[in-house]
Formats: sequence, structure tokens, C-alpha cells
Amino acid sequence: MGLNSDLIERDLSVIWHPCTQMKDHESLPLIPIKRGYGVYLEDFEGKKYLDAISSWWVNLFGHSNPYINQKLIEQVNNLEHVLLAGFSHENAIRLAERLIKITPEKLTKVFFADNGSSGIEVALKMSFHYFKNRGEIRPLFISLTNSYHGETMGALSVGDVSLYKEVYNEIIIKSIQVPVPKDQNLESIHQPLNELKNILINRKHEISAIILEPIVQCAGSMHMYHPEYINGVRKLADEFDIHLILDEVATGFGRTGKMFAVEHCDNLSPDFMILSKGLTGGYLPLSVVLTTDKIYSEFYCDYGSGKSFLHSHSYTGNPLACAVANASLDIFENENIINAIQPKIKLMGELLNKFINLPNVANVRQTGMIGAVELKGYKREERIGLKVYKYALENSVILRPLGNVIYFMPPLSISEDEIKEMFRVGFEAVKNLNSVITS
Ligand SMILES: *Cc1c(COP(=O)(O)O)cnc(C)c1O
Repeated sequence: MGLNSDLIERDLSVIWHPCTQMKDHESLPLIPIKRGYGVYLEDFEGKKYLDAISSWWVNLFGHSNPYINQKLIEQVNNLEHVLLAGFSHENAIRLAERLIKITPEKLTKVFFADNGSSGIEVALKMSFHYFKNRGEIRPLFISLTNSYHGETMGALSVGDVSLYKEVYNEIIIKSIQVPVPKDQNLESIHQPLNELKNILINRKHEISAIILEPIVQCAGSMHMYHPEYINGVRKLADEFDIHLILDEVATGFGRTGKMFAVEHCDNLSPDFMILSKGLTGGYLPLSVVLTTDKIYSEFYCDYGSGKSFLHSHSYTGNPLACAVANASLDIFENENIINAIQPKIKLMGELLNKFINLPNVANVRQTGMIGAVELKGYKREERIGLKVYKYALENSVILRPLGNVIYFMPPLSISEDEIKEMFRVGFEAVKNLNSVITS
């Protein structure tokens, strides 16, 4: 018996894994990981895997990064946690100051939560509550088709990936979906903006906010669209007096080639922006909701008025998480990461283009450090993604396709050689599928 199989047996007898049909593990081996370093994860038998998906899009600077480790150790030796109601600590303050400096101009207040979904809940509640404080009841939110904002009930309600949502239709809050632009071309934005406008003309008094994932809908199979659409949404939100919520949980912190995806738009400031995932460099759960003075002021009054935002999580603004978030921002500054990733983005683009000639590839797309290859000619039941996943694992790369879309979203610290290796295996996996199909 290998060391892995011992752990697998113990695991499967006690753990119910996330986003998993547990029966799959009758045939699909679970992989216990012993340690991580750089872009690699290593199992208990010494096999290493290139983490091409940044452990669910969170890791930025490699696993067990020495600098972040050091900052974490310094913090844990001082203070592991303190509640953030009535108390504060330096890492939370410093992090809030820094985030305000690097995000759009109008975002001047930071509310802490502890994961992406809870950050979404905060923004939705604040938006609704803002209008209620002004004497208006606006129970609806608009989101985009194919959107994903997390798994808690509110976040799920504004999402549109039926795989996650459909079962719960009877118990979620109502929301309206408007079409996302169908591709990255500028022309694709007009029809969707018109549809949004029509809904706003008819129902603006019922709507608190529109929420969207700027330029890449990651869980929505890495669907990408033109940033000009968001400029259009901003104008409509202003015209019809609703909030614009940007969910940068996945796109923030360099993923799109800029620090935040919103920077691809013209000088745009949302009313709320949610950050998580890369916020702590992939170390610890933490999220923030940034908002404006205007919204903050609407809640600022005497206690007991019903206007206070009485939302909290036990680990709100956890000092360890804030310390690693600050460490991660240090790395962005000290190593000028946004510049450093530009050649890697270019290389990823070149390697992605090689897929286009494969007969089972419908298209490829890229935004910054996110590359996606969409396959064609397969039925859902074939679970083609699972085949790619298994092939890549056998070849020491972790790829976790979303349906028919294979994507590459490695840590920003990946080297050019590692990018080549990741794409070599991805390419072989797709080519291999094809030879099985045609033979
Ligand atoms: C992952 C994700 C969330 C949810 O974050 P969790 O930390 O998993 O709750 C929300 N929005 C987007 C765009 C995400 O990718």
C-alpha cells in the first residue's frame, strides 16, 4: 500500500468534498498533497504536479512562498485574531489604505468579510439597504447570463450557471439576467446594452444594482467580453440611478494583465467592488467589499435608526489573512509584477494559438494570464473535461476543465519554461482526445 492510498481511504471515509460527486472517487483517485513549492504540488509518494489552475485561481506567487511565509510567521507570533467590531489592528488598516489607493478613485471605504461569496452577500445587502435607507424598496438585482458569484444563497441567486443553481430555484431570491456580450468583439456589446436599457426603462424602481464579473466570467467557462460593455453599463447605471457592483473575486490581482480588470475600462469607478481569491496570494480566506463615500454616508447616523449595517462574520478581517494580503501586495510592488507578467502573457498567447488548427478545437481566447481552449464535437455525457483532467494528471499537470473548455490560469510567478511545459501537456491532452475519437 502506498502512502497516498492510506490517506485516500481515511479521507473518503470522513470527508465530503466540495463541488464533487463523491461517487466519482470510486474510479477517480483523490490526490493527497504533502507539500507545495513554486508552481508545484507534491503528493506523499513524491510525485509532483504543476498547478496550472492556481489551486482554484487563488495562488499568485507560488505555494509556500518564503516571503509570505515569513510575514505570516511574524504576524502569528504577535496576534492571531481579534474581533473587528470595536477593535482593530495594523494589518487591516494598512491593507484597507493600500487597496483604496490602487482601486478606482471613488472607492474609499473597505468592509471586510472572509470569502468571495460572503463579500457578494455584503455588497447585495448594502445596495438594497442603501435604497431602503432612502425610503425606496428595490428587491431586484440584475446580473449577466452565464455569470457566477459564489454558492451562498444570495450569491447563487445572482449567478446563472444552471449546474450550480437549478436545483435551488424554489428557494433563492429573484433576480433578472441580461445577456452577456457573446464574445470579445466590440460589436457584440450593443445588443446586450440595449436589452439592459429596456429592462431599466420598465423596472428601474424595483432594481438596486447590476452585478457583473468584469471582462472574464471565469466559472462561466472563461467566457470573455469587451471592456467597453462595462463602460456602457456604468452610463446606464448612472442614468437610471442603480448601483454597479463589480465582482473582481477571480479577475483581481493581475489575472487579466492589469492589477484589476476594471482598469481595462476608461477611468471607471463602480459603486461596489469585491475582492477575494488572489487577495491573500492564495494563503487564507479573506474578502473585502470596497464602496464609496456616498453609500457609506447613507448608513452613518444614530444607532437604532434601522440604518446601520449590522452584518458580520466571526473571522472578519483576520490578522493572519490581512498580513499575508499585505505581503502579497509587497511582492506586487517590490517586483513590479504587472510588468513582469507581460512577456508571460505574450508567450501564453503564442502557445494558445497552436491549438486553433486542431480539428476538435472550436476557438481559443485569452485575457492576460487566463487562456482558454474551447473544444467542439463532444456531448456532455462524454465528460470530455474529465478525460483531459486525467490525461494531464498522468503527465504531472493539474488542469480542471469547465465542461468543454480547457483553461490555463497559473500562478503569476510561473516561469516561461513552466508555461511551455503546461501548454505542452495541455496540447497533447487535446490532441490525444482527437486521435481516440478518429481511430
Ligand atoms: C470564486 C468566486 C466567487 C466566490 O468566492 P468563494 O470564496 O469561493 O466563496 C465569487 N465570484 C467569482 C467571480 C468567483 O470566481
